[in-house]
Amino acid sequence: MLKVINELGIHAHAAGQIVDLAGKYKAKLFLQKDSQEVGGSSILSILSLACPKGSEVRARIVGADAKKFMGELERLFKNKFGETETGHYRPRKKRVKMRGFPVSPGITIGKAHHLDRSRTTIVYSKLINKKEVEREIDRFKHAVDMAKEQIQKFKSNIPEQVKGYAFVLDTHLMILDDSLIFDSTIQRIQREKVNAGWALKKSVSTIHQLFKKVEDEYIGRRMDDVDSVSERVLNNLTGVDPDSLTEIQKEVIIVAHVLSPCDIVEINVKHVMGILTDVGGRTSHMAIMSEALEIPVVVGLESATDIIVDGDLLIVDGNTGDIIINPDPDTIITYEDKKKQYYRYKSAIDRVRHLPAETSDGHKITIKANIEFLGETKAAIENGAEGIGLYRTEYLYMIKNHFPDEQTLFDDYSQIAKMVAPNPVTIRTLDIASDKIMTSDSEIGVSKEDNPALGLRSIRFCLNERNVFKTQLRAILRASVYGNFRLMFPMISGLGQFLEAKRVLKSVMRSLEREGIEYNRNIPIGILIEIPSATSIADILAKHADFFSIGTNDLIQYALAIDRDNEHVAHLYEPFHPAVLRMIHQVVTAGNNEGVDVSLCGEIAGDPLAILILLSLGLEEFSMNIGSIPLIKKMIRMLQLGEVRDNFKGILNLPTSKKVESFVLKKAQSLLPDMFKDDVFRYRTTGVG
Ligand code: PEP
Ligand code: MG
Repeated sequence: MLKVINELGIHAHAAGQIVDLAGKYKAKLFLQKDSQEVGGSSILSILSLACPKGSEVRARIVGADAKKFMGELERLFKNKFGETETGHYRPRKKRVKMRGFPVSPGITIGKAHHLDRSRTTIVYSKLINKKEVEREIDRFKHAVDMAKEQIQKFKSNIPEQVKGYAFVLDTHLMILDDSLIFDSTIQRIQREKVNAGWALKKSVSTIHQLFKKVEDEYIGRRMDDVDSVSERVLNNLTGVDPDSLTEIQKEVIIVAHVLSPCDIVEINVKHVMGILTDVGGRTSHMAIMSEALEIPVVVGLESATDIIVDGDLLIVDGNTGDIIINPDPDTIITYEDKKKQYYRYKSAIDRVRHLPAETSDGHKITIKANIEFLGETKAAIENGAEGIGLYRTEYLYMIKNHFPDEQTLFDDYSQIAKMVAPNPVTIRTLDIASDKIMTSDSEIGVSKEDNPALGLRSIRFCLNERNVFKTQLRAILRASVYGNFRLMFPMISGLGQFLEAKRVLKSVMRSLEREGIEYNRNIPIGILIEIPSATSIADILAKHADFFSIGTNDLIQYALAIDRDNEHVAHLYEPFHPAVLRMIHQVVTAGNNEGVDVSLCGEIAGDPLAILILLSLGLEEFSMNIGSIPLIKKMIRMLQLGEVRDNFKGILNLPTSKKVESFVLKKAQSLLPDMFKDDVFRYRTTGVG
């Protein structure tokens, strides 16, 4: 039975679409309402059925491809024949442009295919007696168990490309067990005597309120995981079987309100050419996983499912986030060209990713990766990283509402150590602001700070919460015997603080010794140099540290007093500011004088123009986002280090960022004419310049 759900019912426009569809198939379509049946290839016959909103129509299809035909027909009804909420029809073939967040690069051109991921509708119902309450609790537990089984099944069928992300599905299993979901829903059913679906919705909305206070984009996005898990339970409660990606049998671009990591696991890359979603940001798990599939993905389009109609021709530019709906022929030709250029560029850089980053005059430069989860390690190695230069360890602290225990941390750290060995992993201790921690641990007062970037974050938080700090240090030290770890303290502003952190570390080492637990006694201990006060006293700090890593993301924000996450001042965030370059140079000089290793792990390391400057300032080791590694390696292999240093003499005397940028651009053109020919700078991944 097909339900007419669009405001206008089956008027001429909708009937026209049914006739259009019928014209594509050899099979014959018949539509029946009440006792009247008509042929589906005549507009007038269909109109004669008089089907307003809310009526039901039975469809009968006879002949070849009947199932496929029926699927498309059902989608037409479900998509309201392209009608908007206000009861207007969208012009079918209007050329429209949209822009979202590009999360997986590449360019694709193809037909749109809607995947229905609308939220399950839950109606409130009051339970009248204890028996009903008990039955509802059982139903809820059963729906949760089913969800666990479904996720386990996805996990056991996980395709090779996304294997490294199996932990996302583990997170989903953990969310199902989380007391904020599980216990609180059961308590609500008991206390408020409401049906399970309603109680679960309320639990989720309470978590939404909790997450609302969180300004951090990454933590905020964990709400997507909660939504996806709860939607699965609601579907199980109501018996809804959502559209499955496995049924897609032709090449299409998926358009959905939201996709979950389980959907990504189901994707057949032979048929799915690209993905667009209304919601989601760069750090949603679905976005992170989709990159591994190497198909273009754009998220956060807000109204893609409203604007795009099934079958629309789409251009998806996963490098810029641009979407063009029903492009004209000239635009298609332009994008076919861009597509060729991009894949030529990609295959050129792919060829060098496993070669050493050695300049053509024989200087070995070290290129490592910045990662945020265990799951990224494989991608880092596959992209040619010679180690992990920055493991941001916050993730395990953000996914639960209490701090992770030592064993959880140890399991994670030891796996990374083993995977990367013999190459090194620089593991950074917890860098989190107290207001961003989702903890219900009563011993820690989580307070809202007016200025969290300048507040109780990172090493300051750790030195305040010694037990949290010591637990992490124990896990790091225990894992250190499984590979080649370097330990780094973030946000160090002065020597006293660094020595204090080292004292805590030494006390943890002593207690491990007392317990007879092995660890690497010679683990190098370094400082993430990211506060201007630390650059000023780099010569003093160098006498006490084994290595420095320069964190330009924060260094720029603190040096220029620009909030790195505030779009109103984004234009003032100037990585090429002469003050920033001088600070970097000061740290490199101080490190060299004391024989301390200096590397750089801020995002600018992934920018080809910035790399030229950094090489000229004496840096020879970089850690960057995974996607930039092949490009930077290719570039370094084409350079002569001596020539770069000769050409960049005097850069520290340039007065403004603009002057620096145009200077570097000119030099890059003369030093790397081939790279410009390949149009490579178009794909710069950082926001520099
Ligand atoms: C930095 O500040 O440059 C850095 C590498 O750390 P994060 O981006 O995690 O603050
Ligand atoms: Mg930082």
